[in-house]
Amino acid sequence: MTLDLDHLTWSVDGRRILDAVDVAAPAGALTGLLGPNGAGKSTLLRLVSGVLAPGAGRVTLGGQDLLALPRRARARRVALVEQESTVPASVTVREAVLLGRTPHASHWGGLTARDHAVADAALAEVDATALAHRLLVTLSGGERQRVHLARALAQEPALLLLDEPTNHLDVHAQLDTLAVVRRLTARGVTVLAALHDLNLAATACDHLVLLDAGRVVAAGSVHDVLRPEVLEPVYRVRCTVLLHPRTGRPVLTFDPADGPPPGGTADVTPDVPDTRRPPP
Ligand code: ADP
Ligand code: MG
Repeated sequence: MTLDLDHLTWSVDGRRILDAVDVAAPAGALTGLLGPNGAGKSTLLRLVSGVLAPGAGRVTLGGQDLLALPRRARARRVALVEQESTVPASVTVREAVLLGRTPHASHWGGLTARDHAVADAALAEVDATALAHRLLVTLSGGERQRVHLARALAQEPALLLLDEPTNHLDVHAQLDTLAVVRRLTARGVTVLAALHDLNLAATACDHLVLLDAGRVVAAGSVHDVLRPEVLEPVYRVRCTVLLHPRTGRPVLTFDPADGPPPGGTADVTPDVPDTRRPPP
């Protein structure tokens, strides 16, 4: 189901944090939400998930108005993994993942065999089965991040929202997380992920949206968005875009916006062609 944000606007203390934001995140695809610190990425994800009360604008998933849905009904469709999830002190990993089943549980009954099976499958999916009986507070940041992802998977959402999901992760774990996301999108789940690492976004995303100061400044394919003329004014750096020799996807390097680059200029002719422009 396609996620559509139509003129989403949100203000706090008289300050406009999101300003008429239009985003379309296609079904069964990973859409990367990019932008510098304070651009409004987390606010946008929290609005879509219903954690924050909506301001103006519409949010629809497969044409259905998400913000008009009651909380439980929305939680059956949308899962959010926040950047800094609060960790209850005395909860085991398995209990934390089972919390993802709450919106599916009947009002009267407890958890069913299926709920337990879904939670176990979610733990296995993120390779955290061995952690099941640990207390959540005893985990490393990276392990905890995997468990929060498992909790979101246990929710069986049609839309998964991820706020910087690879933040605490080493490079292998980053690729593992992206592989989990890829399996979800292959099953038709719509994923919108705020990402800091532009190279990771270049590698993994099907579609990108670039926010700056609460406005969408670019949207499209990795080649449309990850261009020097788009990135340089937003991130206030100089940027060189190469093309990966195997995948053809952008690979980015950065230098300070003013003055010479810290490494100096190359004194050898590079043996790679200048591929600043993607092929047509
Ligand atoms: P990002 O995730 O892109 O770094 P955020 O969405 O967290 O950005 O924040 C966008 C801007 O909104 C920041 O300037 C932040 O300080 C401000 N902001 C977000 N939530 C609140 C709030 N509840 N009260 C005041 N300012 C807020
Ligand atoms: Mg954020």
